[in-house]
Amino acid sequence: MAGVFDRLGEASVAKALQELPTPCYVIDEKIIKENGEVLSRVQEHTGCRILLAQKAFSNYDLYPALAPYLAGTEASGVFEARLGREEMPEGEVHVFCTAYKAKDMEALFNYADHLVFNSIGQLAVFGPAAKSNGISLGLRINPECSTQEEGHSIYDPCATGSRLGVTRAQWDKLMTPDVYALLDGLHFHTLCEQDAYDLETTWNAVEEKFGTFLPDMKWVNMGGGHHITRQGYDIPRLEKLVKEVSEKYGVQVYLEPGEACALNAGYLITTVLDVAENNGITNVILDASAACHMPDVLEMPYRPPLYGAGEAGEKAYPVRLGGPSCLAGDVIGNYSFDKAPQIGDRLIFGDMAIYTTCKNNTFNGMPLPDIHVLHPDSSTTLIARFGYQDFKYRLGSS
Ligand SMILES: *Cc1c(COP(=O)(O)O)cnc(C)c1O
Repeated sequence: MAGVFDRLGEASVAKALQELPTPCYVIDEKIIKENGEVLSRVQEHTGCRILLAQKAFSNYDLYPALAPYLAGTEASGVFEARLGREEMPEGEVHVFCTAYKAKDMEALFNYADHLVFNSIGQLAVFGPAAKSNGISLGLRINPECSTQEEGHSIYDPCATGSRLGVTRAQWDKLMTPDVYALLDGLHFHTLCEQDAYDLETTWNAVEEKFGTFLPDMKWVNMGGGHHITRQGYDIPRLEKLVKEVSEKYGVQVYLEPGEACALNAGYLITTVLDVAENNGITNVILDASAACHMPDVLEMPYRPPLYGAGEAGEKAYPVRLGGPSCLAGDVIGNYSFDKAPQIGDRLIFGDMAIYTTCKNNTFNGMPLPDIHVLHPDSSTTLIARFGYQDFKYRLGSS
């Protein structure tokens, strides 16, 4: 499994990246495929099916690279469902939407193989027509089992009062035999960047609360958040659990990781625009913005890995890296360098394929970075370039 910057040590890769105008994202096809191989082996060992959660990564030029390893795509709504159907056509298309709209259902019937509902009410309303269109139906359950670190409540669907998934209390109050008869499977998604141990804990809660229904199900979808391609992830432990669940209940298990498909498979290359000292802090301003181009840095929050840099106090020249927007908090993080950064220096952030290109924005009129693919032979292909029109057309006129 790849380290974040392994490929930048190759001279031909370093040279190819050096020539790209900044800011730009670069998606590393070789690492995408390596992730695919890891996921493919889990499927071989367990019989589970693994889907790409497109909300994390939807640069469809790379879907052909992933397709041989995956069973299909997972979508959050009608646009992602269509993208999955169009761009990974041989794969299954599964949709979980927190609330479906009546006007989207016809289109979803065309694109989807599985539809997962977030409430018994929506299952009752839309389920019968979906079923008669041959769609396999599921309900997202909420095992009310938080396994995430403190401070990540934005990513915890099991937080008290959560709107995500049906709790056992809601189920007991609202489920009817007619609606139950529509169900082919159960879905839960409670993890974020977690290991198999947390899945076990969650599974125990699922079994305890919803176990009586499992023998009636054809499939169980264990959602995303499985950091399977991360160095040190306990794959044998995952495989053991998946096999046990499949055998015990006779269900097809699905996993739908987003991050794990494209983990460490992207870079964001930036250039230093300005450097200024204020009260002992050296502010280095880049041509890439946390707020616009790496929004999870602020939302999660986290400090992205930076090629060649150290922790805040580690090397001789401590700096604070920030974006060119007017937002005071558009700060990427505190780092340190062996040499003082100069205007014109290029910096490379790692693990930038996920929750970036599919989530960026033009706040402050900020241009969207180009997107390139880095091929296994170190050549690059430009797959998207943006301009003024991409900023303007979303704001008006007609
Ligand atoms: C976000 C999400 C995923 C993917 O999560 P990752 O953390 O990227 O693996 C999968 N399924 C559902 C329902 C999600 O909301």
